[in-house]
Amino acid sequence: MKHLKLTLIAALLTASATASPLPVVTSFSILGDVAKQIGGERVSIQNLVGANQDTHAYHMTSGDIKKIRSAKLVLINGLGLEAADVQRAVKQSKVSYAEATKGIQPLKAEEEEGGHHHDHDHDHDHDHEGHHHDHGEYDPHVWNDPVLMSAYAQNVAEALIKADPEGKVYYQQRLGNYQMQLKKLHSDAQAAFNAIPAAKRKVLTGHDAFSYMGKRYHIEFIAPQGVSSEAEPSAKQVAAIIRQIKREGIKAVFTENIKDTRMVDRIAKETGVNVSGKLYSDALGSAPADTYIGMYRHNIKAMSEAMKK
Ligand SMILES: [Zn+2]
Repeated sequence: MKHLKLTLIAALLTASATASPLPVVTSFSILGDVAKQIGGERVSIQNLVGANQDTHAYHMTSGDIKKIRSAKLVLINGLGLEAADVQRAVKQSKVSYAEATKGIQPLKAEEEEGGHHHDHDHDHDHDHEGHHHDHGEYDPHVWNDPVLMSAYAQNVAEALIKADPEGKVYYQQRLGNYQMQLKKLHSDAQAAFNAIPAAKRKVLTGHDAFSYMGKRYHIEFIAPQGVSSEAEPSAKQVAAIIRQIKREGIKAVFTENIKDTRMVDRIAKETGVNVSGKLYSDALGSAPADTYIGMYRHNIKAMSEAMKK
């Protein structure tokens, strides 16, 4: 038994030292980081949508098609985060692919009570007063809940194992380690938000990227734009948000790293509230927000400090 273990370890060491890394394409930077944390030196990751870029507004380039065709595995988020042309190119490439949100119970992409209710069945022509739900009926922003990220990371590990079975033990070990870090992230988030009275747990941000976080930590997020950052809010919706901020004394007002800040700046100005800073919503940034855990810790700290004001 002991001998067998040693042989196994020797084989693993040899494999990781000699094999060239598995080429993996990920659709956006947060998923790219999760794949890197689990894949370690056995994988080389290329993102289609990089740091500080908006996946909702992204469309394929010919360079992306080359990247996909030279990969052994493509990882996408799913739940409509990736535009239809990206999904189509992945399927047509015949490269094996997996969805990181597979099996995770998603939230519906609909407005909270009191918000703007729109009609899914009619109005297929362009109505710029309403929300465009080009991206399906579910909310794709699963990564904003570190508890669900444990299953997300597990899906990534399973896809890596399928593409590179020799690395199974290596990937499983790194997954276990990463899931421990996610657990710690969740307990730290819980401690930070539990210290704030429920009535003050309110945050304004640009688009509706934080519903999963809101559900997990009982935070109310108010956003002029829906789950896709491409949707334009109406003047009426913006006016309603301005009234709500004034009425409820909301002080946590944030721009996002992936978006133009004009809408949030305008709301801040009209309510006389200072912008509290920037949140990382749908993409990594620069260090220490160059990993998922780093960006999430930034968001916890920025939000909880602003809520206390
Ligand atoms: Zn988003």
